[in-house]
Amino acid sequence: MRVSQNLIPTLKEVPAEADTISHQLLLRAGMLRRVAAGIYTLLPLGYRVVEKIKQIVREEMNNAGGVELLLPIIQPAEIWHEAGRWDVYGHEMFRLQDRHERNFCLGPTHEEIITDLIRQEVKSYRQLPLLLYQIQNKYRDERRPRFGLMRGREFIMKDLYSFDRDESGLETSYQKMYNAYSRIFSRCGLSFRIVEADPGAIGGSDTHEFMVLADTGEAEIVFCSVCDYAANVEKAPCQPRTSPSAGEFKPLKLVSTPGVRTVQEVAAFLGVEPQVILKTLFYYADSELIAVLVRGDRAVNETKAKNLLGATQLEIASEAEITRQFKIPIGYAGPPGLKERAPVKIIADYEVKDLINAVAGANQPDHHYLNVNLGRDYEVDTLGDLRIAEEGDLCPKCGAPLHLKRGIEVGQIFKLGVKYSKALGATILDETGKEIPIIMGCYGIGITRTMAAAVEQRHDENGIIWPVSLAPYEAVVIPISHRDSLQVKFAEEIYQNLLAHGIDVIYDDRPERAGVKFKDADLIGYPVRLVVGNRAVSENLVEIKWRASGEIILKEKEEAINYLKNNLNKLRKGE
Ligand code: ATP
Ligand code: MG
Repeated sequence: MRVSQNLIPTLKEVPAEADTISHQLLLRAGMLRRVAAGIYTLLPLGYRVVEKIKQIVREEMNNAGGVELLLPIIQPAEIWHEAGRWDVYGHEMFRLQDRHERNFCLGPTHEEIITDLIRQEVKSYRQLPLLLYQIQNKYRDERRPRFGLMRGREFIMKDLYSFDRDESGLETSYQKMYNAYSRIFSRCGLSFRIVEADPGAIGGSDTHEFMVLADTGEAEIVFCSVCDYAANVEKAPCQPRTSPSAGEFKPLKLVSTPGVRTVQEVAAFLGVEPQVILKTLFYYADSELIAVLVRGDRAVNETKAKNLLGATQLEIASEAEITRQFKIPIGYAGPPGLKERAPVKIIADYEVKDLINAVAGANQPDHHYLNVNLGRDYEVDTLGDLRIAEEGDLCPKCGAPLHLKRGIEVGQIFKLGVKYSKALGATILDETGKEIPIIMGCYGIGITRTMAAAVEQRHDENGIIWPVSLAPYEAVVIPISHRDSLQVKFAEEIYQNLLAHGIDVIYDDRPERAGVKFKDADLIGYPVRLVVGNRAVSENLVEIKWRASGEIILKEKEEAINYLKNNLNKLRKGE
């Protein structure tokens, strides 16, 4: 490939729309352009990276016994109704109608469609196990599309679905995917962790997420400093870090706190520590109003709250809604007397039980209570683990301190069990002729998100540093002077030679200064740069520079080819 024949519109300036390093660099390197929020065009170089990731994923899925097919993007509403998810999916689903006003959606995921296929085509245990996958666009009208490819509304996913006759079959399929995913992300040159995740409404099933470690990650994970425990903070159980205080209950006291609303403001105004303040937050769990109490220095874990309540949706209540319900300005709510103002269920984190003589909103403007005590001044409906794990919380496996890191979820594997096969009637006959539901699993990888995650993890101030396995081209050839016909001839020869030896190479034949080409090469992140200058013509020497290490080596032309062939071959297999 010649740069002159390609479309690689690199940018000097950082585009204003770009909100993370990977987003900036993919735009600047001419790989990506925005069409609408969360919707992008992949330019030729970006598309090559995507194709390389897909190829790695394909190889590993096939090695694990997966078989590729292609399901439709447009899916009829009926099948979603049958599985009970048409309404549950909410605003995230792109919905449309055909000319006959029949309802359809753009597939956000494909459990329904594939289970429908299997219920028609698979009748006997002899046809199982089956591991079917596709690589395709998915559509989700995300509340906050952002970070470029990281959270798009149209994105590319590999989704595999496993079908087994029993639990032990599912366990085998799950392990195969677990191992295949580990190999995939290693081959993509990523540093990642596998963490336990929250199974959500399905409950009880195993699920793991594959997290690429990066400060810009939207997910938070905790991992143990001693054993192998690692989990999404949404999932990690928390022990109370307090012990029951033995102090005496002091008399409840109303104090004036004009204009003081947040935990920080109350702590500063009253001269108390945030951990003695009761934080009261309001949510709608499906349509029921809920108050969640945690210590002032803690954060509510909405996933745990949702699970405790057995709700399918949990949404924070708006300020206007709170004021309407309780007739109190935001910031002055507290549990004493709250239930008398409006029907509300109160759930509290375990640590709240240990709080003696706490500070809480007094449910009237500009006032708080001192010495609020559970049992005397208010009751709760349920106590539970409702807070987000923090640095220093204890490992649920071995008791050592946990550490906190941010991660990008690039993949998730999930034991579904019989949720979809039961709802849609996907059954088989076992050896005895008994009809049993098929046991399913689902396994997703964000192909485009993996591309962004790789850039997030592998870059420097000059640009992207692709691993050989993902690079749009493995090497670039640059003549120092495009006007020097001998140099150009030499560069052309070396380019042809590399091509003939199966090296994925691009030739920067543009009539531009060498400096411009060097800058572009660094920005785009080709793993190897070959420079053809005067010494090439006079001494047959080519300069080889490795993007990742910065190492520069001079080699004679013929030797250069062999050197690159050997080294790239090793690197292609994964770093
Ligand atoms: P998230 O929690 O980040 O919204 P999810 O749990 O909804 O993701 P899954 O349904 O498990 O995602 O989808 C499988 C994979 O698809 C994810 O691990 C992720 O890599 C990718 N993915 C999901 N949503 C998006 C998106 N909006 N843009 C790009 N990739 C996505
Ligand atoms: Mg997920």
